[in-house]
Formats: sequence, C-alpha cells, structure tokens
Amino acid sequence: MNAMPHDRTGRFDVERVRADFPLLARKVHDKPLIYFDNANTTQKPLVVIEAVDRFYRESNANVARAVHQLGEEATAAYEATRDKLARFINAPSRNEIVLTSGTTQAINLVAYSYALPRLKPDDEILVTTMEHHANIVPWQLVCERTGAKLKIAPISERGELIVERFIDLLTPSVKLAAVAHVSNVLGTINPIAELARATRRRGIPLLVDGSQAAPHLPIDMRALGCDFYALTGHKLYGPTGTGALWARKELLRDMPPFFGGGEMIREVRFEKTTFADPPHRFEAGTPNIAGFVGLGAAIDYVESVGRDRIGTYEHALLDHATHALKAIPGLRIFGEAGHKTAVISFLIEGAHAHDLATLLDYEGVAVRSGHHCAHPLMQFYGVPATVRASLAFYNTHDEVDRFVEAIQKVRKLLA
Ligand code: PMP
Repeated sequence: MNAMPHDRTGRFDVERVRADFPLLARKVHDKPLIYFDNANTTQKPLVVIEAVDRFYRESNANVARAVHQLGEEATAAYEATRDKLARFINAPSRNEIVLTSGTTQAINLVAYSYALPRLKPDDEILVTTMEHHANIVPWQLVCERTGAKLKIAPISERGELIVERFIDLLTPSVKLAAVAHVSNVLGTINPIAELARATRRRGIPLLVDGSQAAPHLPIDMRALGCDFYALTGHKLYGPTGTGALWARKELLRDMPPFFGGGEMIREVRFEKTTFADPPHRFEAGTPNIAGFVGLGAAIDYVESVGRDRIGTYEHALLDHATHALKAIPGLRIFGEAGHKTAVISFLIEGAHAHDLATLLDYEGVAVRSGHHCAHPLMQFYGVPATVRASLAFYNTHDEVDRFVEAIQKVRKLLA
C-alpha cells in the first residue's frame, strides 16, 4: 500500500492510488474501464482484499464465544473495527457504535427499536424530498403500524434543502427527523449541524443517513450534533454487508432489542430473558466478521490517503466534469447545490437514461441509470430516471475527458 499518495511537491498522486485497486486495471468491452458508479458501491483496495483473505487463512473463528486463541484473535479483530469506526466519526464512545449489515439495517434498527414503541396516532416523522428509499420506507412501515404520518421537507430546483421550511415543519407533533447527509442522486451536502441545532432546541432526535458522506467528507459526531448516524461499509471501500449505526448512549440505553438471538443476552430463562448492554444488545447472531476486518482495513486506508486530500481532489474532478458536461448541447444536470460531492445526475434531451448508460458501457464507462432508489425525487423533477456519474479519488481528469468524449459519441448515435 502507498501510505503517502502524493509526490514530493504535495500533489495528489492519483496513479499511485490507482495501483492500490486491482480491479481498476481491467477492461470492459475491450476498453479500459472508467468506473463512475462509486455512489452505488466502491472498488476495494488490495489491503482490504488481503485483510479478508488473511482472516480466513489465519484467524477464522466466531466472535465472543470461544476462549481459544483463534476465537480471541477473531473477537479482537472484529472489535478493533468498532474502535476504528468510533475514531473515524469522532464518536464520544465505542459503545455507541452498533455494527450492522449497512445503512438499511441501521435505519431499520432505529425505526423498529426507537420509533415504533414511541409513536402514537398523528405523531409525525420529518424526512426530505431527496431521501433514498432506505430513509423513507422504514418510517412508512412504522407509521402504518402506529397511525403516525410522514411529513416532507421540500427542496429547491437546484436540489438544496430549503432550511427555513425544514425548521418551520419541526412542530410539536414531529417525533423524529431523518435526513441524508449527502444525496445519492444530487450530491447535495445538507447543513447537518444547522439542522441539528434546530431539532435539539425542540427536543426532536435527528437521524442522519451518512451513506454518501462517509466516503467523501470528514464526519464528526461531536461537531454535527445529530442523534443517530447511519453509514455503510461497501461505499467506504470496504466489503459489502458491513455498516454501522452511531447513536447517543442515552438513546441506545432505552432502546429494546430489534433482533433476538445469541450474543445479545445477559441471561436466558424460559420465564424471562435479560439483555446485554448496548451495543451488543443490537448485534444478535454471528456477524460478518471477515467483512468487518476488511472494513477496518478500509478505514485505515482512507485515513492514510487523508479525507481532506480526498475532498480537495474529488472537488477538482467535479468542477472539471461539470464544466465539460455543461458545454454539451441538450444535456441537463440535476442538482447544482453550492455544496456538493462529486455526483452528477444528468439527462440528454431525446435520449432515455438506460440507452445512454448501455451505450456508455460499450465505451468502457460504468455509470448508473434509473431512479437511484429515490422515486419521490424523480417525481419532484418530473423524470422517470437519470444517468448518474459518481466519482471517487481514484478517478482521473483523463477519465473525465474520455467520459465526455464517450457522451458526445453516444449522443450522436441517439440523435
Ligand atoms: N442511503 C443512501 C443515501 C444510499 O445511497 C444508500 C445506498 N445506495 C443507502 C441508504 C442504502 O445503503 P445499503 O444498501 O448499503 O444499506
């Protein structure tokens, strides 16, 4: 691994970074791969692949059950990732980190364990127009069971949350607010600290869906001031099936278990079972141990590259790509927030999103087309689908140029 991916002048050395990601060297349809689907999932550096491989070769055992050497090694490696996550997001305590299979499980945990027992008919949960289905559907399910309702904070045409409207909607009937830190479709970075100040003042817990923020921005639980934060490992250069929920310990302490089973109990009797303290209370069954070992390696890797450096470099890629795409006649970009990550959703007049993405694939460019699990946002813009190019720090300016050339080419084919 290259611990210092910058040259002597301090310039970000993207070629050294790319050498850490074996998959980036492959071809697709005989063309060099341009992987611009990073908001969907990211590629994995060799250190992550090797950490998973090494775990299975050398330390594989179950966690927390065995006193033998392998069991201790497996438990230590799994728990080390909880420590790394706590540090990565500047959480006040490692015991506030619940390891989950991803953001979806993390949000469902809050929906079923925090919201469901508390909601009453006519209570409300506030979400925004730009949420991923993972931050809509779990709330709808608990609303159906309790008679509570969803309330929607609107966004502007540029794809920015209208903060004054969000604050106006924080009425006494709102029992929880749930907001993406970064939109997976628009790249918009929401002003979480500002929203959290408003929710705190009213005693409303704020859940933040950090899936698209964790890979791109420094995130700090003490500075953000939210109450729950969900993230997913596979977008953070780690294995699939890993993620985490951070929650304030006062909230976790009062939450009943979501899943029951082994690992989450203090004592089981047929008359009555007592449960372990958080976070283990929420981690029933055998987790994705090797996956979390890989996630620990991914966090180390991202920290060795440096999140500030990642942010600066990705921003330059975003500016370059936005500028070049805007020069293409008939191309419309969705999401032009003042603060955004390197995600560009677009359409070309007269061309269907899936046709565009299919033809781009033949040019070696992997982009996503569709509704991006954000139907309400598509309805807001009045389109069924967009094409989304989402960049990462291993992408290059040269790839951006080749992507733009490929679009020019397929645009002519579709005209
Ligand atoms: N929220 C957002 C904003 C996302 O982009 C995603 C993944 N596309 C999710 C939630 C769900 O993450 P996962 O499927 O890893 O649980």
